[in-house]
Amino acid sequence: MQFDKPNILALSLAGIIAVLIWVLTSSVLYVSTGNDAYLLEVGMVSIAMFIACYLVIRYSVEEFIYNKVKIIYKNIHNLKIGSDEDEDEIVRSTDLDMVTREVSEWAEQRDIEIEALQVRENFRREFVGNVSHELKTPIFNIQGYLLTLLDGALDDPEINRRYLKRANKSVDRMIYIIQDLETISKLESNMIQLAYSNFNIVGLVKEVFEMLEDKAKERKIKLVFKKEYDKPIKVYGDRQKVEQVLINLINNAIKYGNDKGKVEVRFYDMDKQILTEVSDDGVGIPQEDLSRIFERFYRVDKSRSREAGGTGLGLSIVKHIIEAHKQTINARSSEKAGSTFSFTLQKGK
Ligand code: ADP
Repeated sequence: MQFDKPNILALSLAGIIAVLIWVLTSSVLYVSTGNDAYLLEVGMVSIAMFIACYLVIRYSVEEFIYNKVKIIYKNIHNLKIGSDEDEDEIVRSTDLDMVTREVSEWAEQRDIEIEALQVRENFRREFVGNVSHELKTPIFNIQGYLLTLLDGALDDPEINRRYLKRANKSVDRMIYIIQDLETISKLESNMIQLAYSNFNIVGLVKEVFEMLEDKAKERKIKLVFKKEYDKPIKVYGDRQKVEQVLINLINNAIKYGNDKGKVEVRFYDMDKQILTEVSDDGVGIPQEDLSRIFERFYRVDKSRSREAGGTGLGLSIVKHIIEAHKQTINARSSEKAGSTFSFTLQKGK
């Protein structure tokens, strides 16, 4: 027998009633008959009354508590248990300690859910704010150029071409932002299926070097391997997506690198993975910003990023792609000494 609260209550009440019955009945019988011959029978009846009272009281108390507990359980399991049909699923419990425990677990779970929803809501609000802010600048620029043209600049053949070109540049900027946003939303909703294959990452880096050669030359930046890689290094991943990662990282290394500087790529063999490092000797990233640079629209130097045509989404895309491969990316930097981005890929065959 468990000495829980309903049991103690039932035992105490039944005990009091049995003792009262025993005392009252024996007194009445003693007074009326003048002897104590019925004492044993009265005792037996009292014990029977004690057992009966105990069972009735215990049942009533349990039913009372269970009815209250049922309402609590129904509220807690509201989502799962909608109707009386599912009543069997409710734990038939009158153990108040257990109910208290379950209620506090439920409340804790709710707190966590509410917190997650708040974070998501803030994230969404911030994201919408960022997108509109990013698009506002090129839109206002375009509007400015058009108004100037309408105000008379249209008739000046030299100015009108210049303004139209500038307006077109702002349109290009909007297109980049929208394309990057589209890529991110596809990556986030897992709409992009990775097309896995084995490929040589040294060859891929060479292709990206060629692609970005002109841009690097403009600032007299050298694109080089840290050492000779005469043998192929095979990795297993989505070649096109990894190309996007390399383009974004090497492009950033050029954008935030120093004139006449150097962008170096290096590979490390790590048992089951290949680690690729892209380093530059540029402006670097302050320590306090390092953990945030992979966030959407996060920029250390806003004006430098925009001047260089950045959308603030490049690293966020890179992180998504690497994480979709179930791999990791990391950034380290010391201000003025440059930055290094490294990511892993599964070794290929
Ligand atoms: P952006 O389009 O602005 O370059 P990214 O997402 O690619 O956006 O990068 C986010 C920010 O991280 C950049 O605005 C820049 O401040 C910083 N950053 C990225 N790569 C480098 C780098 N190689 N050196 C210094 N800062 C960098």
